[in-house]
Amino acid sequence: MYRTHTCGELRAENKGQKVTLAGWVQKARKLGGMTFIDLRDRYGITQLVVEADAPAKLVETATSLGREFVIQATGEVLERQSKNEKLPTGDIEIKVSEIKVLNKAAIPPFTIEDNSDGGDDLRMKYRYLDLRRGPLKESLTLRHRLAHEVRNYLDAKGFMEIETPYLIKSTPEGARDFVVPSRMNPGEFYALPQSPQTFKQLLMVAGYDRYFQIVRCFRDEDLRADRQPEFTQIDCEMSFVEQEDVLGTFEGMMRSLFKNVLGVDIPNPLPRMSWFDAMDKYGSDKPDIRFGMTIHEITDAVKGKGFSVLDDAAYVGAIAVPGAAEYTRKQLDELTEWVKRPQVGAKGLIYIKLSADGSIKSSIDKFYSPEEIKAIADKVEARPGDLIFVMSGPAKRKVQTMLGVLRIEMGNRLGLRNPKEFAPLWIVDFPLLEWDDETQRFYAMHHPFTAPKPEHEKWFYSNAKEDLERVCANAYDFVLNGTELGGGSIRIHNADMQKRMFEVLGISPEDAEYKFGFIINAFKFGAPPHGGLAFGFDRVCALFGGSDSIRDYIAFPKNNQGRDVMIDSPSRIDQEQLDELQIDLKSAPEA
Ligand code: ASP
Repeated sequence: MYRTHTCGELRAENKGQKVTLAGWVQKARKLGGMTFIDLRDRYGITQLVVEADAPAKLVETATSLGREFVIQATGEVLERQSKNEKLPTGDIEIKVSEIKVLNKAAIPPFTIEDNSDGGDDLRMKYRYLDLRRGPLKESLTLRHRLAHEVRNYLDAKGFMEIETPYLIKSTPEGARDFVVPSRMNPGEFYALPQSPQTFKQLLMVAGYDRYFQIVRCFRDEDLRADRQPEFTQIDCEMSFVEQEDVLGTFEGMMRSLFKNVLGVDIPNPLPRMSWFDAMDKYGSDKPDIRFGMTIHEITDAVKGKGFSVLDDAAYVGAIAVPGAAEYTRKQLDELTEWVKRPQVGAKGLIYIKLSADGSIKSSIDKFYSPEEIKAIADKVEARPGDLIFVMSGPAKRKVQTMLGVLRIEMGNRLGLRNPKEFAPLWIVDFPLLEWDDETQRFYAMHHPFTAPKPEHEKWFYSNAKEDLERVCANAYDFVLNGTELGGGSIRIHNADMQKRMFEVLGISPEDAEYKFGFIINAFKFGAPPHGGLAFGFDRVCALFGGSDSIRDYIAFPKNNQGRDVMIDSPSRIDQEQLDELQIDLKSAPEA
């Protein structure tokens, strides 16, 4: 037997017991002839002591231990004279009678402690060492607990976990596919699933009316901090349901995760907001409702005073930033530069300061009388001490989106976004389609399997652009603290309607048949009404852990270039492999 206990287990009540522990040497230090060793495993750290009068061989072994050596130590549990309150095992230590080195270790490239001295790249290269550190252990433990709770909850509700294939045909969810060449079918390719969307719908046709899967999905997108080329979804689908049934079921799931994992009660029922309200008030379809600072339209209040920037705008909106009236000129200039960055895209920033003493100062004093500025401030519901920001432009949604980005930034700067405070909500009533000026065509706002609301079907079958723009869907997103954690919809389950959808999206009948013939066909064989959703599991983990980086919650993530620097992938393959796949590279790989 390698061990009787783990390194996180022993307490004062174990005093006097003879125990054997196994683990990694976090550090060993000598103090007045005695050697103290911090022994670590997944469960914690226990202090070992080799006394000065221990047999010479034992003392010698103890002093020869390096960081990260794997050892086995046997000894007696003693109550410590000076307790360490920071460690759960801090009341005891082990008086060692025997140490066996199970394996030596090279000097680690960074310190394996909660606050490591290793940079990001180095820690990614030696991820297996990084994973020994406390914070990552906590993240993976949280992830495991959440997955376990999800399975418990869904199993209790009658959901079956069913695996769907990874080698499939492209399912459009708006991103590029990763493709895999088929050796047995030269010239042909599989696609890795962006989500199991079509398969879960086929499972509904097959009669498995409550399906879920904690499943890997693949999207070949440019990466950001909260994106990974492979990521995990909690993917779910139900038959014979309306939107209300889906929302109720998954609100319940989230409630049980919050309660059982974090001990947090979230509102019951959860608030809901229409997509239109979210855009109008928060300038985002994933509003952070932990703080106010909502957007107000002031188009009518600012027109006709000779200020052409606002006179010419189709939409003028504003937010009131609480208590920021004392912002200095320098801070305002810096913010103006900030909104002009391409990521925000504003031309400039108009401000109005409502000082606590009642005085008003603005960047538009030339054009507006104090009364007119006061009227604007009233529209924005600003109070003395607030700073108002005004933005304008030719397209309402674009201005609202810019104000939304500024709102979040001000929320961050003012410390209004506490990661320990949770404000989930549903966004509902999404438009079904989104017009793209550049390509002059409609795109599905969620995906092409989403059904129009039954009461909007008349517009769905119209060919007028204005009608199609009005069609809404029973589509919904679960949003937490400004992040979209999940989303789904009630689906099309009728072959003709699905064909119409492809037509609206500008996909020719031949193309639709080639790409999606299988699902259109399946709908002819008794497809039940159905709907579902998927949660981004990595993001759920990160937000529950109070972080905005999903990488810390994935055991072996990719870096920002989509590379796994630990195993050095992607990498070239042999000419022989290429030949077998009958693939010619456009440019030959360098030797
Ligand atoms: N397949 C969708 C997604 O990955 C979710 C859904 O509609 O169920 O976003």
